[in-house]
Amino acid sequence: MPDLFTTLATSPVARRVGVPQPTRLRRFAPGEPLCDSPVLVAGGGAFAGAVRDHLASLGVTTVDALEVAEVAEGAVDGTPPVTDAGRLGAVVLDLSAAVDLGDLDRLRTLGAPAVRRLARNARVVVVGRDPDTVTDLEAAVTQRALEGFVRSLGKELRDGATANLVLAQGGRPDGVVSAASFFLSGRSAYVDGQVVVVDDTPTPASSTTLLAGRVAVVTGAARGIGADIARVLARDGARVVAVDVPSAGQALAAVANEVGGTALQLDITAPDAGARIVEHARGRHGGLDVVVHNAGITRDRLLVNLDEQQWSSVVDVNLRSVLRMNQALLAEGGLGDGGRIVCVSSIAGLAGNRGQSNYAVSKAGVVGLVHALSRRVAGRGITVNAVAPGFIETEMTARIPFATREVGRRMNSLQQAGLPLDVAEAVCWLAQPTSGAVTGQVLRVCGQSLLGA
Ligand code: NAD
Repeated sequence: MPDLFTTLATSPVARRVGVPQPTRLRRFAPGEPLCDSPVLVAGGGAFAGAVRDHLASLGVTTVDALEVAEVAEGAVDGTPPVTDAGRLGAVVLDLSAAVDLGDLDRLRTLGAPAVRRLARNARVVVVGRDPDTVTDLEAAVTQRALEGFVRSLGKELRDGATANLVLAQGGRPDGVVSAASFFLSGRSAYVDGQVVVVDDTPTPASSTTLLAGRVAVVTGAARGIGADIARVLARDGARVVAVDVPSAGQALAAVANEVGGTALQLDITAPDAGARIVEHARGRHGGLDVVVHNAGITRDRLLVNLDEQQWSSVVDVNLRSVLRMNQALLAEGGLGDGGRIVCVSSIAGLAGNRGQSNYAVSKAGVVGLVHALSRRVAGRGITVNAVAPGFIETEMTARIPFATREVGRRMNSLQQAGLPLDVAEAVCWLAQPTSGAVTGQVLRVCGQSLLGA
């Protein structure tokens, strides 16, 4: 729900008098093309072919190079501007074969003319190699340098365009294709300046019924981000178990009914919460494939003013319960092999935030959990990832004092707050069977917030 300030700032009168308006972001809608203008796929790396084939299978037009005349047109002052018809919907630069610093110049020679031709809400996706898997020193340095490019370009792009980086650990293209598809689509509207590492796990080809037949549990599903996660999981074909505290029972039932799922009233801090989730999912839906640990609370105070209850309640709900539930979820009869665990962290857990030491402890702990647990369950094909939202319009952020709230909204490359839907889309990408090569990752959904990296 927009507040009074947002309503005024985006009113026709405000537009007429020149108040700067954030770009309306391109968000995914079922049936719409992945990208509605041609995509330039270039750079000479080994993954470009697979990306091109995948885009072609989705009916997206790709081009290998910009015509020399087109480049000159944009590059020389006084020449006619690029017409809308000549715009690129996206650019995929595969620099995974770059081995020396000279190769990095391709970011400029290929990137600059392409960026000049980007359409509104365009995407730039750079593909590289995970530097930790590269033995040659200069090659590793070269690959690490790609991150600086993407993070800077994200800050330079305008009109809702984003730039993100996919780093491959092996030679298999499945993970690159999955991540690039996410970044190219409207699902990643509020993901900007981010890096995702993909491993060599083979994954099924993507389908339109992405989560068909999967049973997904979402905690904190009665409202806010959790309710939208339930909606998007259901939209993509999953059967949803919506979990929330008994006091939110009515709202929870409404969400569960809306998505054709079931409601489970449960305080996730209860010692048997994990077992009850497994019992409900198995009993009502016959299995359990996806768990989204979304429920969370804040009790913001400066450290010197925090009492024991404010500290422990936040750690209990946001972290201890997740650790404890996972024991039951990962035990025999719980989450099936090939399952997905997606946690909801926060940029406060990555960058820290004044007045949120308790919350940041809990959300940084979630990052630790993702890193450590993902390695332990990899043998079962289970992935463990987190999303780290930035400023998202929910009841949680509506409680932030006006001035702080307004700064929080604007302090990012897209110059606006995200929607619960944006977090939900990222969660659902990580929940898909086709995301099996993505594990141990923390994906910020923050419009490239200036808070932290
Ligand atoms: P919200 O307060 O709107 O919703 C949280 C939901 O969790 C509520 O329905 C609540 O009843 C439920 N919940 C709380 N304690 C619970 C418990 N013990 N057992 C079961 N359910 C419980 O919050 P939101 O803004 O939708 O946030 C969702 C998640 O996203 C949280 O983990 C939050 O920390 C994280 N997050 C939000 C933002 C943001 O900008 N809104 C930013 C970063 C991270």
